Amino acid sequence: MNYAFVTGGSRGIGRAICLKLAEMGYPVLLNFKGNKPAADETVALVRAQGGSAEALCFDVSNSEEVQKVTGEWLEAHPNDKIEVLVNNAGIRQDTLLMSMTDTQWNAVLDTSLGGMYSVTKAVLNQMLLARYGRIINIVSLSGLKGMPGQVNYSAAKAGMIGATKALAQEIAKRNITVNAIAPGFIKTDMTEELNEKELAKMIPAQRFGTAEEVAALVGFLASKEAAYITGQVISVNGGLYS
Ligand code: NAP
Repeated sequence: MNYAFVTGGSRGIGRAICLKLAEMGYPVLLNFKGNKPAADETVALVRAQGGSAEALCFDVSNSEEVQKVTGEWLEAHPNDKIEVLVNNAGIRQDTLLMSMTDTQWNAVLDTSLGGMYSVTKAVLNQMLLARYGRIINIVSLSGLKGMPGQVNYSAAKAGMIGATKALAQEIAKRNITVNAIAPGFIKTDMTEELNEKELAKMIPAQRFGTAEEVAALVGFLASKEAAYITGQVISVNGGLYS
């Protein structure tokens, strides 16, 4: 069977992506860091809509753990392939650079950028051998324009954008596309404490986006129809920045 693998699939944007890819017929392998009840709920929601899903607990920022857990899964599934990979897991730890600690810098970089590196490396060989694949990296408006108070997060997401463009060129001849999606403000746990009413005033669409609106684009980029789109960064931000 051909699987879709979604990191950070337990909540928010990742959960909506799992549901979208399952709706497209993919059995979904979803990763989470520690929130088992949320991961179980995503699995249940996928099953409730007639799909299949399985959750794997590991920390994407720990490359040894990534190797171990994904390696064990691949070994246990010799006849299955991961055809779609969505590098979605991410955190933010906002503070001005002046007061940023090494821990805050490293945690944010290691999760988004380091996680993308380790997880992609773990599954890429299979895609290369299959001569087919879709890799979709969830970045951010912050990585395109830079946001004050988010030097670590902007750097992590900008790094992912550079990696997306470089990897796309390395593997395009194997029919593997690599693209990035840059959401603006999306309603999830990550943006829970933000004042939507105030911030919406500066968004041309006058509202935060939904996780489903990001997942819809993931669905398209993961489809066979998107075969000639690679190395791109596509924004889903209500017109906030382009
Ligand atoms: P969220 O609701 O906070 O969910 C984060 C997800 O990532 C959870 O599933 C969490 O797992 C997982 N995760 C965090 N650290 C991890 C780690 N080290 N290893 C494995 N999984 C980890 O976030 P979200 O808003 O859906 O964001 C998803 C992605 O979109 C992130 O990359 C974020 O930077 C990006 N993004 C979000 C927005 C927005 O406005 N929300 C805007 C632009 C970009 P647990 O449930 O186990 O904690």
